[in-house]
Amino acid sequence: MIFDQSSGIPFLRFAGLPGNGRVQHAIFTRQGGVSPAPFDSLNLSVSVPDEKERVYANRRRAYGLYGRDTDTVVHAHLVHGRDVARVTQADNGTWLPRVDAILTDEPGCALTMNFADCTPILLYDPAHQAIGLGHAGWQGTVKDLPGAMVAAMQREFGSRPAELIAGIGPCIGPCCYEVGEVVITAVHAAFPNPDSLLLPNPQSPAANPHFDLPAANRRNLQRAGVQQIELSGLCTACRTDLFFSHRAENGRTGRFGSIFVLEAT
Ligand SMILES: [Zn+2]
Repeated sequence: MIFDQSSGIPFLRFAGLPGNGRVQHAIFTRQGGVSPAPFDSLNLSVSVPDEKERVYANRRRAYGLYGRDTDTVVHAHLVHGRDVARVTQADNGTWLPRVDAILTDEPGCALTMNFADCTPILLYDPAHQAIGLGHAGWQGTVKDLPGAMVAAMQREFGSRPAELIAGIGPCIGPCCYEVGEVVITAVHAAFPNPDSLLLPNPQSPAANPHFDLPAANRRNLQRAGVQQIELSGLCTACRTDLFFSHRAENGRTGRFGSIFVLEAT
């Protein structure tokens, strides 16, 4: 990913996704906002006990990167499922209920979603000018939320998977993501060759393995026919200087944001 900055707000973007013209995107960090610890400082979520006024101020700073505010982006109420919703600007300022991915092909529409260890999934169809933004923790990953996004883009826009450009954003990495029996069993049920995604614990081979969340989502996308896939290479739990991490900060933390914009023509 490429590190960039605008008006004191650091952000990252995928080298493979266009950075100007018809689409714009950014993965924000935790830096550049107004919230105090443990939400320091660019917390974009009111689902954590941060002051609403500070969250709104943070959203103005972050979404302002592309001239947006909380009422001119579409949000989603995430539930760790595999449901996908197609949205338009009529959904601006609302939270789509119980979906973990939102899609649009409407010029002018902007999508946003927040994270703290779960995987941001960005999909762009340059042939049909359509975009999708998704959220996959371990549950969305074993339920193949990325595959559901690709299928929805095929159905809604006529997208061809081989033409999609995908970005897998900063999430908890295999270095830090120790998992127990429930996740191990689910990974075995969801993936062929699951042991390549459940890596030996670096502390002790007898201890619980570490799940490779970004590699599992790359595999989900590949299985759906996507070929152009960029991984961030950044672990949210290793890099709590840059990101909020639910695991590394024992749940007392904020949420960093993302924005994906299809510009008006
Ligand atoms: Zn790590």
